Amino acid sequence: MTDLDRLELAGNRQLVIVERPGGLAAVPRVQDPDGGWRRAVPGDGVAEAMLDLLTAGSAEYGNFTVISWTQRSATGERPITVDQTNESVIVGDDAIVKWATHLDDGPHPAPRRITALRAAGFAGMPVPLGLVTWCSPRGEQTLVATIDEYLPGAVDGWTWAVELVTAAAQDAVARPPLIAAVAEVGRLVADMHTALAGTASVADAAQARAWRDAAFETLETAVALSTSVSGAMLRERRGEVEALLDGLGDLAGTSVLEGHGDLHVGQVLQTEERFVITDFDGNPVLSAAARMQPIPAAFDVAGMVQSLAHVAIVAHKYTDLDPHALADVSSLVRRTFLDAYRRSAPRYDPAPLRALRLQQILREISYAAQHLPRWMYVPDAALPALLDEGITA
Ligand code: ADP
Ligand code: MG
Repeated sequence: MTDLDRLELAGNRQLVIVERPGGLAAVPRVQDPDGGWRRAVPGDGVAEAMLDLLTAGSAEYGNFTVISWTQRSATGERPITVDQTNESVIVGDDAIVKWATHLDDGPHPAPRRITALRAAGFAGMPVPLGLVTWCSPRGEQTLVATIDEYLPGAVDGWTWAVELVTAAAQDAVARPPLIAAVAEVGRLVADMHTALAGTASVADAAQARAWRDAAFETLETAVALSTSVSGAMLRERRGEVEALLDGLGDLAGTSVLEGHGDLHVGQVLQTEERFVITDFDGNPVLSAAARMQPIPAAFDVAGMVQSLAHVAIVAHKYTDLDPHALADVSSLVRRTFLDAYRRSAPRYDPAPLRALRLQQILREISYAAQHLPRWMYVPDAALPALLDEGITA
């Protein structure tokens, strides 16, 4: 492990950029009374010190850029209790500081997207308090820390949506709260896109071709990697699958914006009062350059719709549910989301929706095959459902 750079924080604390076999990471460090430095854990005060640095305002410190939107410090650190990719520390009841345990290649889309959403007054996300970026030796800015308002008791959609769908499939009286929740999320996503309308431009033919080619590449990878039923189905129905994906090449002229880029139910947190959208880091499976590109709103919509289909599959795995009731609830959820979204985002073009949902399934086949075999039951069930369902559901 080699130290590449460090951001000095008050009280003998640091945020260090280290190079490890798997890539670069941002690591919090604290100095012990004997003078030695060690990796900090929640309670060591590095997240508190980060928040203190934000109170000094936006500034540059060597290769680090601190963007601050807060003047408030807080004390008392604790870890978050859910599984996550990065490492987040809660400070007081005020802030959540996320260290990037794996640095993406820059440039990084989050600063631009969060800044645009803030500027537009979008309130459907945790209040952003600050961002820290680091400029790599190649001259690319990437994100090393994200500091947001902490929302006590917030849970993501792999919890709230699975619970609501399970309950609604068990008993029709539980449908109204599910419908209300999903409609609210549909409006929230539409509000986010409305807030980003100022970033809109028009896709050219090269961009459309790149989307189509990327989808075909994803298909190639999924076919090569999958040994399960979805792999067999892809091989068997390849013509149909390719015809659907081919439509992405026709998107020249469609409107694009600085969308979320990695939207799914896991990015939608439910608090006591409302829903909020988090994680504007872009899609981790894309290259840095592709992650920065503006997207049709349908990319985000498809991510949400397909993840809602996956919610029903997950619900079925953990609870013995009547398949017909579940199928009803699942299509109701997708329709409700889309109707609510469309009512608030009337300019939305649904043409690529099915192709994009299919692409999402293909990505999950590859992801499950490479990293998470126990997730394969989800795309295995989602692929036949999508290929056989009606055009609009
Ligand atoms: P990762 O990039 O590691 O996946 P996320 O930003 O998606 O991290 O957050 C992981 C989890 O932390 C979320 O699922 C949620 O439970 C919790 N979380 C994230 N942001 C907040 C917040 N602002 N307030 C409360 N909890 C949050
Ligand atoms: Mg996340």
